[in-house]
Amino acid sequence: MSRPVLRFAPSPNGRLHLGHALSALLNARMARALGGRLLVRIEDIDAARCTPELEAGVLEDLAWLGLDWERPVRRQSEHFSDYRAALDRLAAMGLLRKTFLTRGEIARAVARLEEERGAPWPCDPDGAPLYPGDEAVLSPAEIAAREAQGAPFALRLDMRAALGRCKAPLSWQELQDDEARGAPSRLAADPARWGDVVLARKDTPTSYHLSVVVDDARQGVTHVVRGKDLFEATAVHRLLQVLLGLPEPLYRHHRLILDADGRKLSKSQGDTALAELRARGATPEEIRRRIGLDPDA
Ligand code: GLU
Repeated sequence: MSRPVLRFAPSPNGRLHLGHALSALLNARMARALGGRLLVRIEDIDAARCTPELEAGVLEDLAWLGLDWERPVRRQSEHFSDYRAALDRLAAMGLLRKTFLTRGEIARAVARLEEERGAPWPCDPDGAPLYPGDEAVLSPAEIAAREAQGAPFALRLDMRAALGRCKAPLSWQELQDDEARGAPSRLAADPARWGDVVLARKDTPTSYHLSVVVDDARQGVTHVVRGKDLFEATAVHRLLQVLLGLPEPLYRHHRLILDADGRKLSKSQGDTALAELRARGATPEEIRRRIGLDPDA
């Protein structure tokens, strides 16, 4: 039987903080417990924010923590053709919508719709207003004009049509603890809550959801271990896996490290950045203790 495959998948748009350390070390621990392989994947599709210097810093932070991963790392920016191929398959199934609205136009349309209905417009699990459809804002002639001008567009999944293609209700298997002990529980997935999600952005020919699903399959990832902040995104990932005929990994969404105000850590918070803590003399063992892990783990 082939060995389990785990991955830690940072975006090099800043240095790693304590939350990333927990995620990386939990991946390493589960890989060890299962006799599996550990990969690091660089999620650098956002060319405006990801830099080679930050990538080098991220890998340095991981090596300092004591993480041991397989080389070479997969860098998403080198695989746009793989994401293109997945988009082409979805387009051939008639599941993509070419959409021109800007974020500002969506915000204005939603404000108007809320006023008309006298009720709040629904939001996705991340709190962003659901995409109302270009036709809620633009006339058919305006849409045709943008098309003719070659205006920038995003590609969105036609959620209703996509769900219509699924024969069985969607679900995923969630591991019950960080050691992958015991049987996973099967959880219902409800991707409709995300509306017509963006699969290719105006400025980038893919999106987080699409590239993560394509790469997990390409790299044979069997166990996806990541923070609870990505729990709801898993519903979209399962839908894409079913549509694209990709295997279903097991999932574990682990606890998050919060700041003193109970908020999720962000890359701009210097006092929790590993590089900063290290410069102040912290050891990898102290980092482990601070995030609630056994210092020898
Ligand atoms: N690149 C994502 C992040 O930095 C993680 C993706 C994943 O683990 O699925 O939050």
